[in-house]
Amino acid sequence: MNERTLDLIRDVQDYPQPGVLFKDITPLLGDPDGFAAMVDEIAGLFEADKIVGIEARGFILAAPVAYKARAGFVPVRKKGKLPAETLEESYDLEYGSATIEVHRDAFAPGDRVLIVDDVLATGGTAAATVELVRRAGADVVGVAVLMELAFLEGRARLPGVEVRALLTV
Ligand code: AMP
Repeated sequence: MNERTLDLIRDVQDYPQPGVLFKDITPLLGDPDGFAAMVDEIAGLFEADKIVGIEARGFILAAPVAYKARAGFVPVRKKGKLPAETLEESYDLEYGSATIEVHRDAFAPGDRVLIVDDVLATGGTAAATVELVRRAGADVVGVAVLMELAFLEGRARLPGVEVRALLTV
């Protein structure tokens, strides 16, 4: 993506808590050319049968990527939001922990799955999602994010997984 597009990602200091520099993608989402460029680029990175979006901002990227790639879309959600039988995975956050879920029957055996989210920070969310997809019987072909915060070394929590970021800071 070009420089102008990258400039549309806005830094918000001290959100959601003091000391965090939040990467706000909403100006990029609101730009017709920027949004299209982002979706086109992610859709061209991997061949996949299913695209997983991680709640909530991952949904915004993963759904149009799935449509463009003629792949299925699968939501990974915070605990308690999916109606049918689920698999769940818990992981640590800086303060406390989180649990995410996927429907047990979301994948066919051996489905090639691309996981999509907006930001890769510590990698905890992506690593838990990789685990969920594998436990559900599918193969993870990669993790694609709009932005990687490389100083947090999230890739180290994803050994053997191909991680692609459109931007790295
Ligand atoms: P992590 O599990 O630490 O890799 O965090 C990833 C999740 O938290 C992603 O779903 C991001 O949307 C969100 N996130 C973490 N850090 C930031 C940040 N600095 N700016 C925006 N989103 C973030």
